[in-house]
Amino acid sequence: MMTALCKARPGPGAELVDMPVPNLGPRDILIKVRAASICGTDLHIYSWDPWAQGRVHPPLVFGHEFCGDVVAVGSDVTRVPLGSYVAAESHVVCGECYECRHGMAHICRYVQILGVDRPGAFAEYVAIPEQNAWLTDRRFPPEIATVQEPMGNAVHSAAVAPIAGANVAIFGMGPIGLFTVPIARASGAARIIVVEPSEDRRRLATRMGADVVLDPVTDDVVRRIREETGGEGADVLLEMSGNAAAIRQGLEALRFGGHASLLGIPSRPVELDLADGVIFKGATVMGIAGRKLWDTWYQTRGYLESGMDLSPIITHKLPLSEYERAFDLVASGRSGKVVLLPTG
Ligand code: NAD
Ligand code: ZN
Repeated sequence: MMTALCKARPGPGAELVDMPVPNLGPRDILIKVRAASICGTDLHIYSWDPWAQGRVHPPLVFGHEFCGDVVAVGSDVTRVPLGSYVAAESHVVCGECYECRHGMAHICRYVQILGVDRPGAFAEYVAIPEQNAWLTDRRFPPEIATVQEPMGNAVHSAAVAPIAGANVAIFGMGPIGLFTVPIARASGAARIIVVEPSEDRRRLATRMGADVVLDPVTDDVVRRIREETGGEGADVLLEMSGNAAAIRQGLEALRFGGHASLLGIPSRPVELDLADGVIFKGATVMGIAGRKLWDTWYQTRGYLESGMDLSPIITHKLPLSEYERAFDLVASGRSGKVVLLPTG
């Protein structure tokens, strides 16, 4: 038996339950979870917002960012040895659809997400397909190993943008935006300008190396970005907030011929000035879904191995039993990454 944080029934909240350790299929591995970090998606499930109501079918153990030790393997597992230390790609892809067969498995049309469509990792143990495991060096502590998944979103957003020598504007300093700051720096950004309403998160952005930190509540963001870029506007926009006003301002502050990576997910359709914000500007706008398989994971590992220090972004580590406090911290918008420790 094991303890797990379960969305037991439709409605807000979650509860700790005792349940059987998951069974393994022939190509599955069983992981003893060392750390499981909380993502905005988990907050949607916890608070039971309209998206969660339409997607999630309780009872469900949720949580999809994690790492741990492989303690059992199915009969047909070949690549992941018993005892390995692994993180996980949260998207279980089909491998058969048009996108998967064209090298675009990150947009697999039959994707199943761990902790959303199938049991997740806010538990002492989780079973995943061998193909989703990412072997990780033990020199990276659990709170770092687990955030390789959300860091991958930042890596993917930056990797498709021409950042070397560029002025980069990043909107939204949630955990993913915060990861993007040192990634942009390591990629050779000339100037990193960030926009974020939360004071605690602006402070974290400075600590992570942002050159200019703006508050959209009090600063004229578009004017300030133009001032900071010699009147040209930002060469690159990394949109990590999902906020409609931020997306509009980001495109307005982009220079002619600039590149925009859009990762933040708006909660409803957004009205944009496409004519002036994109078309006449000749801008390149790219949607970013998850992590490229497995290009992004190799790059993420490379940044970590190069010595990138993400520890300031991990602001809280709590036992699974303190999940209520953990979700309150995430909902406050004042924390960085909040990490649960299901096995102490
Ligand atoms: P988060 O909610 O912690 O961060 C969003 C940040 O944007 C917050 O700090 C918020 O204060 C800030 N913000 C709000 N209004 C703003 C404005 N007007 N200007 C600038 N910043 C503003 O979320 P996160 O976990 O860091 O994720 C970032 C976004 O990426 C979310 O929208 C999330 O849903 C999305 N996401 C997308 C993918 C994908 O595959 N595309 C994957 C994971 C998360
Ligand atoms: Zn597929």
